[in-house]
Amino acid sequence: MGNDQLKKNAITGGKGGTGKSTVAILFANQLVKERKKVFLVDCDVECPNDYLLLGQKIKKPTERIYAQFPKLIKKKCKKCGLCAKTCRSNAIFQAPGKYPVFIKDLCSACGACWIVCPYGAIKPKKEETGKIFVNKIKNNFWLVTGLTKAGLEETGPVVTKVKEFALDFAKKNKADYILFDTAPGIHCPVVSALIDCDTAFCVTEPTPMGAADLNLILDLCRKLKVPAKVILNQADLGDKRKIFPIIKKYKTKIEKEIPYSRKLVEAYSEGKLLDFNL
Ligand code: SF4
Ligand code: SF4
Repeated sequence: MGNDQLKKNAITGGKGGTGKSTVAILFANQLVKERKKVFLVDCDVECPNDYLLLGQKIKKPTERIYAQFPKLIKKKCKKCGLCAKTCRSNAIFQAPGKYPVFIKDLCSACGACWIVCPYGAIKPKKEETGKIFVNKIKNNFWLVTGLTKAGLEETGPVVTKVKEFALDFAKKNKADYILFDTAPGIHCPVVSALIDCDTAFCVTEPTPMGAADLNLILDLCRKLKVPAKVILNQADLGDKRKIFPIIKKYKTKIEKEIPYSRKLVEAYSEGKLLDFNL
């Protein structure tokens, strides 16, 4: 199978603790056993854990991620306020008559402020924002792990870079599948991971909280025009009827039900998920 047929799927879920990473690994494992070439990409860049579940170590980064952040040149600044008005991330604070102050944690490194400044008083400054690690698990199975610099608030751009790197790498290796294991939630890094995927598999549990979060993630997938299917984890431990109205609302279906398994939980805790089937 060649590059053109690379399938891009996301494994996602509205909340943490639903077993999303476990499902992502089991899904990858199943495809690997079917002799497909698979790239699993851990896009939960603030707290990646797929490598731990696969019994791997991440030491030396294969690639480093950089972004440009604004730096003020005070002697050129006329305190006009245009940069603060332009910044859509509220990352520039400017009190009347004072110099603008850049709040790095909120900055998405979009570059708008140094483009709009009429006096050339803002210069971009390159800084490292994350790292990418590659582990070859088997002949036809790679793990790509993204890890953001600690304390960075805006991690969406880091996820985008991890995706670009992994897609390029997967195409060069003529992979059949690339699976993006997203962060939990519906915030910016999840959006970055979901964009342009062929299908999103939304992992949830049959509980009221699971139903509420499923509603949120299916709504996000609809807005992003990413077709979504549902994977019901620990399907026998709750009330499936809680999930049915949401499935109906979004005209989707339960692709897979995974019952609770003590052996699976043990394998999870020991980093031995590779031995399991979905
Ligand atoms: S746009 Fe430029 S000159 Fe105006 S306040 Fe911002 S940095 Fe200063
Ligand atoms: S680079 Fe973009 S997000 Fe960052 S301060 Fe400038 S305008 Fe705001």
